[in-house]
Amino acid sequence: MTTLSAFNNFTNGLPEQEQLMPVLFVGHGSPMNGIEDTEFSRRWTQMAKEIPTPAAVLVVSAHWFTKGTKITAMDFPPTIHDFGGFPQELFDVQYPAPGDPVLAKETASLITSTQVELNHDWGLDHGTWTIVRHMYPDAKIPVLQLSIDYSQGPQYHYDLAKELYSLRRKGVLIIGSGNMVHNLRMVAWDKLNEENYGYDWAINLNDKFKSLILDGNHKPLINFSELGRDAQLAIPTPEHYLPLLYTLGLKGSKDNVSFFNDKAVGGSLTMTSVKLG
Ligand code: ZN
Repeated sequence: MTTLSAFNNFTNGLPEQEQLMPVLFVGHGSPMNGIEDTEFSRRWTQMAKEIPTPAAVLVVSAHWFTKGTKITAMDFPPTIHDFGGFPQELFDVQYPAPGDPVLAKETASLITSTQVELNHDWGLDHGTWTIVRHMYPDAKIPVLQLSIDYSQGPQYHYDLAKELYSLRRKGVLIIGSGNMVHNLRMVAWDKLNEENYGYDWAINLNDKFKSLILDGNHKPLINFSELGRDAQLAIPTPEHYLPLLYTLGLKGSKDNVSFFNDKAVGGSLTMTSVKLG
């Protein structure tokens, strides 16, 4: 189990400028990325080698959308197969990373804007394990999830993320897991294997998102519903977009901003991912 002393070991071993753990937004796309060797999953593996080894991983997943905010607080979070219509091989995956009840409690106490529930019923859903098993295949690093309160607006989520900032100094890797552009109803299923295939509106909006993120201009990203028709098509429901606001809310003044897996899939999805720090 990770303890506070493990956090201290993280900061003791690093030069001062590296004492802030990067923050990621990861476009997770199809659950099949969890078991397939794709350009996306390969990049996740590579990313883990480029950043410091975290003391723990905290994921804000699009697939845990709840009333109120919850954090997984069990010793051993189960692997959740929250999808249908995929091969048995995907249902057979277990990712046996430990949880970290102490860190869960500490994280809950950092958040003062709401009462965070210590949760013992959820686990690691596919928004988390499909990514993290490629990053940390040994499953030795504790992994926690924080849920997204569906009753709250985007500004609330952006502000709540800021309350988690000190976790970056303690070696916790925070990942927002969703997709910036995510409209499953409009997916061109016959073009899924076509390299970087995006509808014009998807590409245009994805480009706009990137330039706002690069400029550190978060206001229009928070008020995404005012970005017009492209945003209505790209974000028909907010759960895959809101994890991006958690990532952006955690941006520090000295963080570099870079993108990875910057590709469209099936017309109406983008895998575009963000690294801060
Ligand atoms: Zn998803």
